[in-house]
This record gives sequence, C-alpha cells and structure tokens, in this order.
Amino acid sequence: MTAALAPFERHMVVRAIKVALVVGTALTIVNLGRELASGATSLDLALRVAFTYSVPFIVSLYSMRGTAEELRPGARSRRGGTYVCRGCPGAAVSVAPGERLPPCPQCGPNARWVPRHA
Ligand SMILES: [Zn+2]
Repeated sequence: MTAALAPFERHMVVRAIKVALVVGTALTIVNLGRELASGATSLDLALRVAFTYSVPFIVSLYSMRGTAEELRPGARSRRGGTYVCRGCPGAAVSVAPGERLPPCPQCGPNARWVPRHA
C-alpha cells in the first residue's frame, strides 16, 4: 500500500512525458486527426486530446516503477549506491558495488530494496 502511494522518481516522470509526447501524438493523429484537420474546436475534442496523451503517460509511469531494479536481502548490488526499502519509507542502506544488501531493519528478510536516484 505504501509503495503504491510513494512519489515517482524524477527520471521516471521525465521519461513518461517523452513517451506520452510520442505515443500521444501518434494516437491523436490516428484517432482525432481528421477532426483536428477540419479545424473543429470544442471542449469535448480538447478533453479527448488530453485523455489521449494522459493514457500513455500513466501507463508508462506505472510500468517503469514496476520494473525498477529490485533486490532482496542477500542479493549483490551491481552498481552500489543507496537503496531504499519499498515497504518502509525512510529505510535506506548504502552498499558498495558487489556488496550484498542487508535485511531491512523493519521488514527483515522480506525487504525489497530499490535504488534511490538523485
Ligand atoms: Zn523495509
């Protein structure tokens, strides 16, 4: 529950915006291009365009978080750095490259560590 409410990392939001611009533009042209080319303007059309861009943004953002590098205690960190526990906001640990991640002070061996991005 906590993980679902956690804020998104900045790099994920930036990437989701880029995906939304590319995919949203393609979908807008395919689905609404004829209407837009005719010069039609309406609140309904504006909302449909906004929705067309928001869908790839939301899907991209959530799918990125789902596939973010996640390590269990005992797994070795390839890059090293600071990891935060998905289950406990505030629980963090710093490890060197190749070092094993420890159990979380709160979750113990069930922790899921994800890298903290600057
Ligand atoms: Zn934890």
